[in-house]
Amino acid sequence: MEEDGGERNERAENLHEIAFCAKIASFDCGILQKLNMNNHDVVVAVTGGNRGIGYEICQQLAQRGAQVVLTARSAKAGEAALDKLGAKSKNVSFHPLDVTSTESIISLRDFIERTFARLDALINNAGILPDDDRSGLKVDLATIRTTLETNSLAPLHLSQVLAPLLKRTRGGRIVNMSSGLGTLSEMGADHAAYRISKAALNAVTGILSAELQADGIAVNSMCPGWVRTDMGGPNAQRSVAQGADTAVWLALDAPQDLTGKFLRDRKVIPW
Ligand code: NAP
Repeated sequence: MEEDGGERNERAENLHEIAFCAKIASFDCGILQKLNMNNHDVVVAVTGGNRGIGYEICQQLAQRGAQVVLTARSAKAGEAALDKLGAKSKNVSFHPLDVTSTESIISLRDFIERTFARLDALINNAGILPDDDRSGLKVDLATIRTTLETNSLAPLHLSQVLAPLLKRTRGGRIVNMSSGLGTLSEMGADHAAYRISKAALNAVTGILSAELQADGIAVNSMCPGWVRTDMGGPNAQRSVAQGADTAVWLALDAPQDLTGKFLRDRKVIPW
């Protein structure tokens, strides 16, 4: 059956409209890709940013042009870190954060809300390795509790409070700084508190990854390797630059569908 002139015109108009929308969509996509390449629109919060791997993560993120929220529990240490960043601190703001304090976490959330109205990535880097950590039969339970508080519960709490801000962006990310010492498949007897806390952190990663998948938020654990910091000591094999690399990659570059994994050197490793 032949279509009449009116139908032909209507179809032509529809096709025109579809082509126009496709053009707009590809233009929009191009802009987004460009912004992502420059990272100027990416807001990343880092815990324990005043020294060690956390400081290096902030430095690498700033170099890549991200808007960095460097946090530290001591205002003096945080401001000293900003000074040390020098010209690179242009895109870096400092906000105090003790990861074990609810008041402090809420204050960080309010700061990010006021300043950026959203968050693209949270890097839970702050961690402790207590001096009195011992083997499983000898460690004090109080030491385990304190370690769990900082290394496992704080990243969960921060994720709970900051999730609404992460949900406002396209493809939010949470990076949990874990450790090979938390690997269940090759557990040892030493450093029981630290090992338990990092294995628990890996569980937090799995849980949050499952819960936030519907919101397009990727959640991963990573091990930086053995790194020369106050925690790792001077004999460690890796530089802070090597230790920070996977965290920065997970925050800015990793595929968005990479979630619920444990990584080292940008590669998935066993739990
Ligand atoms: P680090 O040099 O000892 O630095 C630890 C950072 O965490 C410091 O900024 C410290 O702040 C902060 N922190 C501790 N408790 C905090 C709290 N309650 N609130 C806020 N910040 C707190 O350690 P690192 O070697 O850079 O380690 C960073 C992360 O990598 C940790 O999660 C660690 O477990 C993990 N990791 C390290 C290695 C390694 O070989 N270095 C290996 C595997 C995993 P202050 O300066 O105020 O103490």
